[in-house]
Amino acid sequence: MNRASSPRVLIIGAGAAGLALAQGLKQARIPFTIFEKNASQKEKRNWSMNLHWSFDSLEPLVPKEILSKLESTQCDPHIIANDPNQLSFLNGQTGDVLKQVESSRLYRVRRDRFRAMLLTGIDVKWGKSLSDISYAEDGATVTARFADGTQETGSILIATDGPHSAVRTLLLGKEKAKTKPIGYAATMCFTKVSREQALFLRSPPHNPLYQVGVHPNGYCAWLAVQDAEDAEHPEDWTFMHYISYPESGGDTIGRTTREHVAYQKQLAKQFADPWKSIFKWMPDDSETAWNIRLRNWDPSLPDHRWDNALGRVTLAGDAAHPMTFQRGQGLNHAIEDAHQIYKTIRSFWNGGGFTNGDRAKAIEDYETEMIERTGKEVRMSEANTVAAHNWDQINSSHSLKKGLMKD
Ligand SMILES: Cc1cc2nc3c(=O)[nH]c(=O)nc-3n(C[C@H](O)[C@H](O)[C@H](O)COP(=O)(O)OP(=O)(O)OC[C@H]3O[C@@H](n4cnc5c(N)ncnc54)[C@H](O)[C@@H]3O)c2cc1C
Repeated sequence: MNRASSPRVLIIGAGAAGLALAQGLKQARIPFTIFEKNASQKEKRNWSMNLHWSFDSLEPLVPKEILSKLESTQCDPHIIANDPNQLSFLNGQTGDVLKQVESSRLYRVRRDRFRAMLLTGIDVKWGKSLSDISYAEDGATVTARFADGTQETGSILIATDGPHSAVRTLLLGKEKAKTKPIGYAATMCFTKVSREQALFLRSPPHNPLYQVGVHPNGYCAWLAVQDAEDAEHPEDWTFMHYISYPESGGDTIGRTTREHVAYQKQLAKQFADPWKSIFKWMPDDSETAWNIRLRNWDPSLPDHRWDNALGRVTLAGDAAHPMTFQRGQGLNHAIEDAHQIYKTIRSFWNGGGFTNGDRAKAIEDYETEMIERTGKEVRMSEANTVAAHNWDQINSSHSLKKGLMKD
């Protein structure tokens, strides 16, 4: 039997995966504590994401009264999520539609608002950056140590600490845990424009939510509405837009924000609308932009297998499978992981009276399913990103052939 004095789950990281799991455990009355490195809910970066097929996995975790706020976390809260949904893939050079791709019911959510919804009723321990893990000799417990010198002991530790996971590094070492750059980068830009310009960007032939433009010269552009809360005042709307480009060896990394913005503006001159205009209208000195190198980490590689210490530690969400974002799958798999872990913990918890063997077997099964599912997606997302920057491959890309479906 588990000999922890008070059995509980330790969750490391209060992003979507950690918070969705916390919501589920709270409903199931399984004791847990969730720790977050940031000092508060406020984060330096924000973006928007497509929540689509994982809605069905979120529903059993989050109480109805909280989930009823989901539409209000959308970039445009006035849009009713439809099932199925159509999204536009354009030829970025001409603006012609390459294909309308299909997704299941789609919520285009703002990361900060979505996270705020999941934080409802959850008591997060802020300012707790995990720095080390140790295990009791009897196989029963795991202890998390934090950078502030404190420590906490539990029966199982679920690492949902994001793409550069400290837990992944502790389990595998720095070299094996490192994400792999795949040869592309992008600068995320956030722009407000005049009322007329904002209406133009969201009117036919442009999709009011978002569009993707693939350019024959090897670039991929996005334009999405990031915040259109006030339907009456388009001049207050914010748009998120970027052009991703090939980069090898990190040669664009040292650029200043202004230099990144200038490069995006230069690339946009090769594009048709809406990119031609939004990048022209963006101020040269926009300080809200940030550059990102596209990277991933495939959990299914033999070298990447971690020791889960009799099921006392495992990974979920971006901690387990950081992937490129152009196929819009990372959040969806993070939520699916939370659902799978929730079911797994419930299967052996037994009021805290489980054996080490029960836990080890259940976590082994979780990892087998998760690694197979998400390893496949990491590889598919990488292939899709490569195709989006190679004109002769774009028609055979997964996104164009199958839309945003899981596989
Ligand atoms: C521009 C962009 C667009 C995207 N679009 C989509 C999309 O359309 N659809 C989609 O499905 N996905 C998309 N994604 C991916 C999606 O954002 C991620 O997959 C998802 O947010 C992962 O959630 P997570 O909870 O696993 O990790 P995170 O959201 O990264 O949360 C991890 C948390 O752990 C905390 N943490 C880190 N280290 C420690 C530590 N040592 N101790 C304690 N806490 C720690 C972090 O501060 C953070 O709060 C996009 C990503 C980007 C960048």
